[in-house]
This record gives sequence, structure tokens and C-alpha cells, in this order.
Amino acid sequence: AIEFVEVNKSYGDLHVVDNLTLSIEANEFVALLGPSGCGKSTLLKLISGIEAPSAGEIYVDGELVNYKLPRDRNVAMVFQNYALYPHMTVAQNIAYPLKTGFRRQFSAKEIEEKVLRVAEIVDIQSQLAKLPEHLSGGQRQRVALARAIIREPVAFLMDEPLSNLDALLRDGMRQQLMALHKRVGRATLYVTHDQLEAMTMANRIVVLNGGVVQQIGTPREVFHKPANMFVANFVGSPT
Ligand code: ATP
Ligand code: MG
Repeated sequence: AIEFVEVNKSYGDLHVVDNLTLSIEANEFVALLGPSGCGKSTLLKLISGIEAPSAGEIYVDGELVNYKLPRDRNVAMVFQNYALYPHMTVAQNIAYPLKTGFRRQFSAKEIEEKVLRVAEIVDIQSQLAKLPEHLSGGQRQRVALARAIIREPVAFLMDEPLSNLDALLRDGMRQQLMALHKRVGRATLYVTHDQLEAMTMANRIVVLNGGVVQQIGTPREVFHKPANMFVANFVGSPT
């Protein structure tokens, strides 16, 4: 589970997250929806430790992580641009988190077995020897997912992971992500601009504007009982 308790974040004079309290249960898939610049990526960075809150507490699995280094937090980020290492093969990319800054050392054989297991989960096992530049967009995204899964993180943080894919691939990947969530579970915080994505994938939706939570609810509640004008306008209009 992930918990924010009265979290604030400023970049200099710019107040980006305003007194946010929110919890995401283990196994829950929560979509984070809101206009550009409203603080979505910042929230993910606060959880993963790329940024530190100006005030408030952040808990991962019941443990205060404010003062923990990113590598000790055991949350996995998946980015829009995949962020694969271009000079490493697919297998090496997937194995990377186990070789650097992990809690324990794995033998070469253990690593090979784990890589194969997660590659099978995301159906990329036939591409292990390739370099990322020789993969399609969807395949690259699956490698990024495999690299996230292999650490067996407490939580997945996904920042518009499908927005670089064409519409058809995106549809397929949506299904795969949901299947993956069913299989692997874990708290997932999923940033998207795409309301349909939020609506179809999430257990709950958080609507954010100007660093302030406007509504937290099931897709049904958010779409049928918007809490205010902002939510009504935002979810009512395609972006
Ligand atoms: P988008 O949908 O465009 O990705 P976002 O909701 O993810 O937007 P954030 O990246 O969280 O938005 O940024 C929130 C606000 O904080 C923006 O106004 C942005 O310009 C500002 N900001 C983000 N990172 C920094 C930084 N390192 N230093 C200063 N300002 C920043
Ligand atoms: Mg962003």
C-alpha cells in the first residue's frame, strides 16, 4: 500500500502539491487523471524518491519512506519513453535491477531464470537477445514492464506508459496491463491523460487539479457524480 499524509511539495515559489492525503491499497489499480502541469508526475516522483516532499509523510507498505533512498523503497517506475538502455540486450535490460543496488546478490543462473520467468509473463521471451532499437514500440514497453516486475516491487508507478503507442497497440497493451495487474497484483498508480483508459482500467480514479485532489472515487462515481464543476468539465470533455 501507498499512503500520503498531508503531503505538500513546492519547487521554489511554485506550490505543486497541496496538502494531499490519499491511500492506495495493495492490489488496487488507481488512475491519476488531471490536466498538464497539475502535479501527476510529481506525485510519482515523491513516492519513488526522485523528489522529496516539502512537508508531510509518505508511507510504502506501512513504512515511512521520506528519508529512504530511491533504491531502498522497492517501488518500480514505468515511463512513457520506456527508458531502456540502448546498448544492452533485452535480457540485460530486464536483469539490470537485480544487478545494481538490490538487497541481495543473485547468481548468474538465478538471474537467467528470473529474466525468463518475467519475460514469459509479458510475452517477450523470443526477443531476449535483441537490442531495444530492433523492437517495436509495444515490445519495448513490455521490456520496460518486465524490468519493473523483476524486482517484485511493492508498488508500480506508471507515468503515461502507453501514450507513445499507436491506438491499436495501446488497446492491446491495456488488456495486457490489466491481465498483468490481476496476475502480479501490487498497488498501482497509473498516470494518464486518457479518460477512457482511467475508466476501463482503474478500481478508483483520483482527479487532480493545481496540486489539489478534486475527487477520489470509483470510475462510476467520478463520471456520474462529479464532485464539482472542474471534475464535471474535465471528465465530460475529451482531451
Ligand atoms: P503533464 O501531464 O504535462 O506530464 P504533470 O501533471 O505530470 O503534467 P508535473 O510534472 O508534476 O505535472 O509538474 C507540476 C508542476 O511543477 C508544473 O508546473 C511543472 O512546471 C512544475 N515542475 C515540475 N518539476 C519541476 C522542477 N524540477 N522544478 C521546477 N518546477 C517543476
Ligand atoms: Mg507528467
